[in-house]
Amino acid sequence: MDIKTLKEEVIAYSKEIGIDKIGFTTADTFTELKNRLIRQQELSYQSGFEEPDIEKRATPSLLLEEPRSIISIAVAYPSKMKNRVESKQGERRGIFSRASWGLDYHHVLNDRLKKLEEFLATKMPGARLKSMVDTGELSDRAVAERAGIGWSGKNCSIITPEFGSYVYLGEMITSIPFEPDTPMEDQCGSCTKCLDACPTGALVQGGQINAQSCISFLTQTKTFIPDEFRDKIGNRIYGCDSCQTACPVNKGKNFHFHDELEAQSEVAKPLLKPILKLSNREFKTKFGYVSGAWRGKKPIQRNAIIALAHFKDETAIPDLVDVLENEASPVSRGTAAWALGKIGGETAFAALKKAQEHEIDLEVQNEIEKGLRFYS
Ligand code: SF4
Ligand code: SF4
Repeated sequence: MDIKTLKEEVIAYSKEIGIDKIGFTTADTFTELKNRLIRQQELSYQSGFEEPDIEKRATPSLLLEEPRSIISIAVAYPSKMKNRVESKQGERRGIFSRASWGLDYHHVLNDRLKKLEEFLATKMPGARLKSMVDTGELSDRAVAERAGIGWSGKNCSIITPEFGSYVYLGEMITSIPFEPDTPMEDQCGSCTKCLDACPTGALVQGGQINAQSCISFLTQTKTFIPDEFRDKIGNRIYGCDSCQTACPVNKGKNFHFHDELEAQSEVAKPLLKPILKLSNREFKTKFGYVSGAWRGKKPIQRNAIIALAHFKDETAIPDLVDVLENEASPVSRGTAAWALGKIGGETAFAALKKAQEHEIDLEVQNEIEKGLRFYS
């Protein structure tokens, strides 16, 4: 079969299996990306979650023998929940970012890529194929940009004209010499809305992010959240969408093509107080299927405590005292101490004083002091 026809067949098949956009690029080294990653590393702007080997990130030939092309895929996800939670007075809820609504997208995209691999294997037996989604070596965004899926926005997302930036990305390196598509023109122009909307200034300039001050990254860490970011996190318990919701291209973009990506509102926007009491098993049962659960219960619990402090929810004081007195994790105990101080009141004060006498962890003691400082 000639490669041009195969490409057309791949495009047609991709629509059948729930891929919303597909693009093709060469397997050449991503030179610009490599230079950008080196700069990011020098500035300590990386998250630490990414593949540490920059050469591997930028060089497809290190990942597959004699690669000839990369197929980039995009799957659109909703920006609004179909079933919204009914807000009752006094009920405080946290929010997962949109990329953590519905079934973990890694499963969804890996499933699509597996089907595509099977398709290609029947059409071209012996073809070498290697797929990845997010956690692979390649940069999904750099591949998608070069394959013409969208342009790289100042908010560091790939922006498609059709679905905005609400797309999940994945790719497949292949030994098949598909004709590459043309990259898209940058359409951000003079707009700076995403930079203006970022609560922490993490977008240091258009297209450059300091992950260390990005709320999306911070909500995934397992340590204490640095003081200067706690008030800015608000009720985000996983991820942050502010630089996407601010983007004018995303306005009105809300696609519900895939049932498995629909949010269960009680999971995507859960009540905060019950999160403090979840066992690991209960957490897995309720949240285990979403991508935001990948770091386990503790970061979500810590973020829920910060969100309760943000709301100054006095009804949460007994639960926070319970965390301060009984939780095994120092990060949870310490964050609860800070939250109690921020919410304030006599009960919180008494609990902080009591904990100050018994607490043996130095970091937690430090947080207790911070909590008590709210009273001075
Ligand atoms: Fe800023 Fe949030 Fe975007 Fe991170 S995800 S760059 S914190 S707006
Ligand atoms: Fe580009 Fe404006 Fe969207 Fe930022 S908000 S990504 S500058 S179009």
